[in-house]
Amino acid sequence: MTRDLLGRPQHKYALIDCNSFYASCEIVFRPDLEDKPVVVLSNNDGCVIAGNKKAKALGFKMGTPFFKMKSVMQKQEVAVFSSNYALYASLSQRIMALLRQYGSAIEVYSIDEAFLDLTNTEETTGIGTLIRENIKKQTGVPVAVGIGSTKTLAKLANHIAKKDPNFPGVCELRSYQEDIKYIAHWPIDELWGIGRQHCKSLQEHNVFTIGSFMELPEAYIKKKWHAPVWRIYKELQGVRCHSFKERPPAKQGIGTARTFAQPINDWYKLKEIMCGFVASVTEKLRKQHSLTQQISVFVMTDKHREQNHYYASEKITLDVPTDDTAILIKIMTVLLKKVFKAKHNYKKAGVHLMKITPNQSFQQTLNNVHDSNKVEKKFHLLGTLDRINRKYGKNTLVFASQRLSARQPFDMKQENKSQKFTTNINEIAFVR
Ligand SMILES: [Mg+2]
Repeated sequence: MTRDLLGRPQHKYALIDCNSFYASCEIVFRPDLEDKPVVVLSNNDGCVIAGNKKAKALGFKMGTPFFKMKSVMQKQEVAVFSSNYALYASLSQRIMALLRQYGSAIEVYSIDEAFLDLTNTEETTGIGTLIRENIKKQTGVPVAVGIGSTKTLAKLANHIAKKDPNFPGVCELRSYQEDIKYIAHWPIDELWGIGRQHCKSLQEHNVFTIGSFMELPEAYIKKKWHAPVWRIYKELQGVRCHSFKERPPAKQGIGTARTFAQPINDWYKLKEIMCGFVASVTEKLRKQHSLTQQISVFVMTDKHREQNHYYASEKITLDVPTDDTAILIKIMTVLLKKVFKAKHNYKKAGVHLMKITPNQSFQQTLNNVHDSNKVEKKFHLLGTLDRINRKYGKNTLVFASQRLSARQPFDMKQENKSQKFTTNINEIAFVR
């Protein structure tokens, strides 16, 4: 391990972030679009959620409703895609698997971002360049690599690698003091952990750039903005405050909600869709080895169209935590009955699981209150269900109560969806 001037051990972290990830995934299978503006829309083709550099340069802001920009986009020949999460997830997995080879540990931070531990690596900038080249070569997705002795510096270095032409795609920072000329001028909100609230409060104290932030006395920062902001200050000096978490912490709430392309007023149809939601959230629950002890449902009508806007939600806390889809479908149905009023047309609905705990801690309790043989059998059954659906595609095996929604997934409006090039054998790309 290398050491700093005071003899303290120096960590080295890399933050690898894919450039315009969703748009880049689409371009992988449409190389003719490489130099064209490309955008990706949210579910139901509602809003623009991602765009490549070219699209951003034309001024298309993320989050804007698609219908407002449709004609302008047509004129500017912007390639528009409905979101294809199966494709993005599969490319993300490939990228993460490749990244694992370069560091001693990986912390997958989001679908298109990961921290790598390069502490025992010499020549880190060289490795950064290699990572960048190989990910592009092997997946087609462009990435930027930021390296630093703390996570905050690695994040900032990644930003600089994307924006500063002095560092095309790879940037390594040692500390604020040593790299002040590349860091000081960036606006304060480029710092990892500075959210809108902190940013506003810092700006009120005339702190607009990272340079002016670092000029503040440490004690003043600690008193005024407390530990989270003080940690950013220390991390920029190269003092490690954020540890490396190989496994992302389990989610504390798991939910799914959808806006329907066509409002629904049929009880059976809505119920079946909601059963599909329960199946999907419980699968996520089992994937992170957790149990839930609280489930809530909500339904709502279209705020903009219906005169008597209706929103209702219900929740229930269970005696025993569970990850069992069948049990939660039953409970969800009871809750849905309470909120469902036949006279309304429902535009949006969702299911949320809360009070989530690791399953090991409850295995004991479960074995005490239930027949342990039965618990064991259920565990294997649900595990098999998940494996089949992972292998052969979502909804290959479904619960009887979700059969309709499984076949007609909430009539999602997706007019411009690309193929599942990487996850469905019937949709692979052909080379002519
Ligand atoms: Mg990204």
